[in-house]
Amino acid sequence: MPRALYLDHNATTPLRPVARDAVVAALEVTGNPSSVHRFGREARRVVEEARFAVAELAGVDPSSVVFTSGATEANWAALSGAAVTRRLVSAIEHPSVLAAEGCVPVPVTRAGVIDLEALDRLLAAEPGPALVSVMAANNETGVIQPVAEVAAIAQGHRAMLHCDAVQAAGRLPLAPITGQAALVSLSAHKLGGPRGVGALIVGGDARWRPTLRGGGQELRRRAGTEAVALIAGFGAAARAATNDLDQAGRLCVLRDRMEDAVLTDCADAVVHGRGSPRLANTACISMPGVAAETQVMAFDLAGIAVSAGAACSSGKVAASQVLMAMGVPEDQASTAIRVSLGGQTKPDDIDRFVDEWRTIRARAGQPAFAAA
Ligand code: PMP
Repeated sequence: MPRALYLDHNATTPLRPVARDAVVAALEVTGNPSSVHRFGREARRVVEEARFAVAELAGVDPSSVVFTSGATEANWAALSGAAVTRRLVSAIEHPSVLAAEGCVPVPVTRAGVIDLEALDRLLAAEPGPALVSVMAANNETGVIQPVAEVAAIAQGHRAMLHCDAVQAAGRLPLAPITGQAALVSLSAHKLGGPRGVGALIVGGDARWRPTLRGGGQELRRRAGTEAVALIAGFGAAARAATNDLDQAGRLCVLRDRMEDAVLTDCADAVVHGRGSPRLANTACISMPGVAAETQVMAFDLAGIAVSAGAACSSGKVAASQVLMAMGVPEDQASTAIRVSLGGQTKPDDIDRFVDEWRTIRARAGQPAFAAA
């Protein structure tokens, strides 16, 4: 069996030992955080310490952090709870944003960046309170969105801003984002925390109604007994993630070396979003003529984990909706894989990926290999 190499950090990140320890310790805490007795107070302390850590990472007041079951719930709550009549969302948002009822997609440029003029036009086209939702960085291409410009345009139309900052957490400073957006979504498992917990940050000026009702938890903003252990893990991961920004330079060198090697090897390969500001760890690469799913399986047989488009929809055969929205032709979009590096990625791992990429491409001409 080849040694396993994980290059799918945008799908989920390995659990940090400190987060694991925090989860295990909190599992031993008996109380319900809403109970007034000492057991309850102990569980409450665990939750509030984690809230403080997440708030610190996000650069917000702890009272604005609402714990959820993850960013899918946070996105859904943001979009459906906003007290607005119109929802304008960039066309490359996560499905949990795009699924919001009646949302109007805002086009993106070929470079993978929201079209600011189109946003302005769409906001001007109709009256009524509006929400704009734009992600901080795209999960498939890593392209960083111009949140400050989007915020200025939204403000000009008195629209509220929601930002899905899931892929930015631990990779970009969050304070400039939380400083501009009334609502911000985070997910623990993208920064070394456990899966199944996240947060919606609700700013003081947010015109927003809770969507999950039936209990007074989270200051009446999200009903249901808190997932104490997972929240503890989120807090520990958030604390540790404050040091992750230092990794960006090293990851960028590795990622660029990988892309350069692939592009030198194959003039027809395409790196999507390469001309735009991107997360340092993310590459989205089309291998001409080889379906993304075929590549993912071939890499997997070689022990290397990468993904075809968004992991949440892995197993799908359709081309990446993100790339299609960027105007990438379908034959290119259906041959794109995402390679996302992380804290443990080493130069040798990049060499191994590039060697395997070349092998898969060389084998592509053989009859057993399905073409795109
Ligand atoms: N938004 C983005 C940009 C994501 O990458 C993901 C995870 N695929 C989500 C939202 C959903 O997060 P969760 O897994 O916590 O529901």
